[in-house]
Amino acid sequence: LYEAAITGYGFQYLWQDSAWLNDHALVLFAGLSFLVGALFIDAFLGLKEANPTMHKAIVTLVILYAAFIVFSFFVGEVYVAPLGQYMGLVLSAGTIVLSAHEWHKGNMAARYFTIAWFVLLLGTSVYTLMLAGHIPHTMLTESVQRVGISLEVLLLSFALGDRFNRQRQMAKQATDISLHLATELNRSHEEKIRIQAQAQQELESKVELRTAELLEAKKRLELLSITDQLTGLKNRRYFDSCYISEYKRAFRSQSSISIMVIDIDHFKRVNDTYGHLVGDECIRRVAQAIHIHSQRPGDMAFRYGGEEFVVLLTDTDCNGSNSVAQLIRQEVGRIQYRYDGSVVDLTVSIGIATEIPGDELGTKKLLQRSDDALYQAKGNGRNRVEVA
Ligand code: GH3
Ligand code: MG
Ligand code: MG
Repeated sequence: LYEAAITGYGFQYLWQDSAWLNDHALVLFAGLSFLVGALFIDAFLGLKEANPTMHKAIVTLVILYAAFIVFSFFVGEVYVAPLGQYMGLVLSAGTIVLSAHEWHKGNMAARYFTIAWFVLLLGTSVYTLMLAGHIPHTMLTESVQRVGISLEVLLLSFALGDRFNRQRQMAKQATDISLHLATELNRSHEEKIRIQAQAQQELESKVELRTAELLEAKKRLELLSITDQLTGLKNRRYFDSCYISEYKRAFRSQSSISIMVIDIDHFKRVNDTYGHLVGDECIRRVAQAIHIHSQRPGDMAFRYGGEEFVVLLTDTDCNGSNSVAQLIRQEVGRIQYRYDGSVVDLTVSIGIATEIPGDELGTKKLLQRSDDALYQAKGNGRNRVEVA
């Protein structure tokens, strides 16, 4: 519109009916060009963020331009036209300094812009000087501003293209970065899951190991609680529970069960003569002899207390248990334990009782009968077996 006004085409084709517009067109459109130009600079260079002070300055300038345009409606164009031209010069020069400064600071949008605006400034300067009468009217001086404007438009197109390109690159970069971040996030998530699984596995195998150790310790404790420490045979407590259950089993299956009570002969004498430590060793050796002959499945040997032992024989009748008892007695007789130059004499007396249980509760009676048989063996001269 400014071009249309300055060349006269506007009046010829666009507003030949409006005398008012014809009077004010040049100042109005020149003023509007610079006003819009100033807004364009502000937006294009992103001054609101990049340079807030300049942004404020430009907003002020825009208001001034608007005021100037309105002012021109009341005053003749002849008076304000040169003022408008000088204001245009000020804007162009100011813009050059500003955009060169932005370019220097690294604002790449300002690169084309500086050049573009410089071209316009050159054209406008020459034109203004011509209008002011400082240089002559020629074809060149008259058209130089138009050439400047055309070049400016061209260069600003480049600037826009460049800016568009850079924004696209930045968008791509942002996409790449977010893609990369997403991959990283995914990887670290997988890593976390892997570490968790590993920790879980380690924990599980530790628990497994610990459980196995505890089970092992429990087994050891259980064995310890049923074992006699001195002889390694099973102890009295274990006998009590074994005897009842084996007796019940024999009752259910109506099979023979034998119980054998073994007592070392004249053991007080051994203790008195050689002392308790030797006595203990003798008890150990007798236990070994008993163990040797009670290893059949179904045979169980116990230290009943002091120097007394019990052997439980399941599925064994009177003859069977008698022969086992004789073997034990003979084995004890073969013990040649030497102490202090002399051999410690060791013999045992054994009482046996056998039955096919008539009821479940006969344990005490059977034990009593074998004890009676032992008493008999003692009475009959010791180192012998008596069967109840
Ligand atoms: P008998 O032939 O009548 O059996 O005579 P005995 O002297 O062996 O009499 P009895 O069986 O009553 O004696 C048990 C003795 O065995 C009493 C105690 O001095 C001894 N004794 C019991 N337990 C132990 C032990 O663990 N170690 C030792 N060294 N001696 C024990
Ligand atoms: Mg005794
Ligand atoms: Mg005895």
